[in-house]
Amino acid sequence: MSHFSYRNGVLHAEQVPLSALAGQYATPLYVYSKQALAENFSAYAEACRQYGRGRGTEGFDAALVCYSVKSNSNLAVLNTLAALGSGFDIVSGGELQRVIAAGGDPRKVIFSGVGKGREEMRLALSHDILCFNVESIPELHRLNQVAGEMGRRARISLRVNPNVDAKTHPYISTGLKENKFGVAYEDAMDCYRAAAALPHIDVVGIDCHIGSQLLDDAPLLEALDKIIELVDLLAQENIVLHHLDIGGGIGIIYDDEMPVAVGDYLKRLFGRINAWRDAKYEGRPIKVMFEPGRSIVGNAGVLLTEVQFLKHGAEKNFAVVDAAMNDLMRPALYEAYHGVQQVQQHRDAAAKTYDVVGPVCESGDWLARSRVLALHEGDLLAVMSAGAYGMTMASNYNTRPRAAEVMVDGDKAHLVRERESAAQLFALESIIS
Ligand SMILES: *Cc1c(COP(=O)(O)O)cnc(C)c1O
Repeated sequence: MSHFSYRNGVLHAEQVPLSALAGQYATPLYVYSKQALAENFSAYAEACRQYGRGRGTEGFDAALVCYSVKSNSNLAVLNTLAALGSGFDIVSGGELQRVIAAGGDPRKVIFSGVGKGREEMRLALSHDILCFNVESIPELHRLNQVAGEMGRRARISLRVNPNVDAKTHPYISTGLKENKFGVAYEDAMDCYRAAAALPHIDVVGIDCHIGSQLLDDAPLLEALDKIIELVDLLAQENIVLHHLDIGGGIGIIYDDEMPVAVGDYLKRLFGRINAWRDAKYEGRPIKVMFEPGRSIVGNAGVLLTEVQFLKHGAEKNFAVVDAAMNDLMRPALYEAYHGVQQVQQHRDAAAKTYDVVGPVCESGDWLARSRVLALHEGDLLAVMSAGAYGMTMASNYNTRPRAAEVMVDGDKAHLVRERESAAQLFALESIIS
């Protein structure tokens, strides 16, 4: 069930009319549904409970869902998920500090990314995070050195590039040979041997992440099969892995897509893993980890914006709104589609085909193209499915303060990030005297 629906002709987030939120907090405004977040997380948690296998000899639970912080890193989002038992997949030291500030458990944090800095490694080691997802040999050596200096050992998994085609947008496809991510499948065994020989490294797992907005789970299952082969080969050399992390990537509905249901995907995935463990390892459990972002938060948020001007040109009609590419970059970056809904359904304006554009001085500054809308100036629009890679990709281009964020819980709305002021944007700058 969608948590953004019309009641008496007005679009609501749960039980709160979006028009009331715009009145109270102004626009542009990100609005999240706590219930939607919780339900999306539960789809993973429930499927893990249902299809995952028992407790491992290592005392691990059968599965861990590590929410991908970069998709939406607001503290209230992280706190909501932490309370539901989520772990976190981070890509920077800053994200680790957010997780901790939000009450997340650093022992459930995994650290991904191709360019981890020494300071970031130190921070993560000092909080004893669960695992570093290492993406190259030089990174392995740097981590070994930093851990040695601290008198610690770093738990690692290698991000292996399984060379499968995720069949998604090239900018969000990460599992092919030509991508910068992970170690090549052919080099993985050598990398593991090198890792196992390092004094301050504990080899604990294997991971991959092949791309984002995947509608079909076939590429993920193909990646799983390739990962499993490596786990077997490693076991023959007495490199025993305790977890297998299949990454994130499940897509959501933006337009008319039909993404695989999380429960169906996990059923198939655990089916293969359980059969493999039973056949080869007498069922000894291996912990299965996930790194979902978009599928948890994407449709849990909308971007609320107000129509400033209607421009009727010879070729096109434009609805100039107060949100822009700096607030929601996905259309400009990937030509991504977002649904646009009128907050108030009224029939007294003539329906026309509009491009919905922002005030930023770039032709790429559009949020939606060729949408039939019946608009007056001052109307409110909701840009749908904007919970993931919305606010986290926002910038201050054109010295535009970033939007405020609100989380709705039932009939209550909570301001979870204040709107920035222009003065804050240049507070760290100075003129030379
Ligand atoms: C971005 C990212 C994810 C999350 O991907 P979604 O498509 O949002 O689920 C997971 N793992 C890694 C390594 C990532 O970079």
